[in-house]
Formats: sequence, C-alpha cells, structure tokens
Amino acid sequence: MSNLPISNLPISLSPIEIIRPDAPRGPFRRALFDFDGTVSLIRQGWPEVMVAAMLDILRRDLPSNGTDMAHFCADLVARTTGQPILAQMTCLADEIARRGGTPGDPRAYKQHYLARLRQNIQHRLTALEQNPRRADSLLVPGVVDFLAALQSRGIPCDLLSGTDRADVVAEARLLGVDRFFEAIYGPEDGTPGFSKQQAIDHILHQNGLAGPELVAFGDGPVETANVAAVGGLAVGVASNEAERQGIDAGKRRRLIRSGAHLIIPDFRAWAALLEFLGLNS
Ligand SMILES: [Mg+2]
Repeated sequence: MSNLPISNLPISLSPIEIIRPDAPRGPFRRALFDFDGTVSLIRQGWPEVMVAAMLDILRRDLPSNGTDMAHFCADLVARTTGQPILAQMTCLADEIARRGGTPGDPRAYKQHYLARLRQNIQHRLTALEQNPRRADSLLVPGVVDFLAALQSRGIPCDLLSGTDRADVVAEARLLGVDRFFEAIYGPEDGTPGFSKQQAIDHILHQNGLAGPELVAFGDGPVETANVAAVGGLAVGVASNEAERQGIDAGKRRRLIRSGAHLIIPDFRAWAALLEFLGLNS
C-alpha cells in the first residue's frame, strides 16, 4: 500500500476523518449510494417534516401521557433514518399501541407525511423541471465529479434508498445523475418487506462480490450498519444539507455509532477519496 498523503494531514484539515483503523482497503469492485442526503438535496428538511407529521398523528391517536412528544418523534426519525417510510410509520404505530393509544393504518400515516413533504419540496421539483441547470444547488457537493470518476475507472454504482423507488428514479433523472447508476433499489409502493439489508445481499450475490469488495456511501445509520456488517467499507456522509458545507454533528454521531469506518462532509475531496479507495490510477 502506497503512502497516503491524506493520512499525514492533521485530522481537522483532512477532508476524510478515519474513524476505524480496521477500515477495509479494497480492492473495491462496486459502489453503493444512498440517495437523500448523500446524493440528492431535493428532500432536504424531510426529518423536520416527518416530525411535524408524526406530531399531527400523535395529537389524534395518542392521548396525552406526559411524554415530550417532539423529542420522542425526533428520536424515532433519527433512529429509523434510511428505513423505508412505511417501516418508519409502522414503528410509530407500534409505539402508539405500546403507550395505550389507538394506532391507525401505517399506510395512511405515510400518505399524510408525503402530502406534507410534497408541499415543502414541490418548488424545488418545479424549478428543476423548468431549469435543469439548478440541479447543482440540489446535489451534495462534488458527487457528480466523484460518480464520473468512479464510472471512468470501471466501478459500477447502484442507488439504494428507503424512499419509494418510483420517486428516486424520477428525482435522480431530474438531477441528471440517473446515468451513473446501473440499478436503483427502493421500496415499491404498496409492497412491504423491502429492506436495505436484503438489497445489499442481492447486490453481492447478483454480482458475485464478497462484502469487502463493496464500498457504500450513506448519511443514515441503516445502510451504514448493514454494509459494515457484511465487511464492506461504510463511508458516512455527515452532510449538512441546509448549508451545503461542513458536518452535521448529529449525523456524524449516529453514523459513528452505527459502525462507519470513515466520515466525510460531502464529496468535494473526491480525489482524496479515490486515493483512499485505491482507485486513483
Ligand atoms: Mg439518506
């Protein structure tokens, strides 16, 4: 292994924070990307919208019981980030039942959340449809350069999201990044049972890969834990979505807790990242 200039940088100046010295070092043959918060910023702010939607639901379905509901919802959303929306809403329904409330259908909860979210993001979708050049401001910085570099080095990339697959396909196309991905995995609307773990197993099996040959990028605990568990390199993208620069401290903490080997704020330092991955030549 060649000397990596990156490791000589003081940690505060390095764009790549090495959390686990046991990080797999390849050779990597395939890359996996989470979508929201990792590639796309179209849904920036979705956790706050989900918390607000859950609070609507709790006011109706759970009698007041003294719990700090805003804190409870924020924690539930953070813990389940990366899971399919329906699974997150099923979690909420289970909690309501456990606390003596009367839960409704998680599918109706999901529709309530999506309706609120659409109100929040519609202006971004409309702006993109009218002017594709706006994509730049709705992408995690550096991700297009990084994806292009992986493509030119023959590393196939897949997308894996907990957002409904049809929405991911449409939003990836609007952002002009769909061309970089060989496959897009996500829950099909109305089909419960999708999990990122299953999708990762499928990707490994389908492509004849061992876990350590896979590198994954994600801003949520689910994909991070799943990829680390199969022996792949889990790169935590602790993107600050509102500012489009710097680290989101809450994401960083949760990513490290879920087993992230590295933390990056975004893909601006894509050249250094390629070097770390042994893909710079
Ligand atoms: Mg995400």
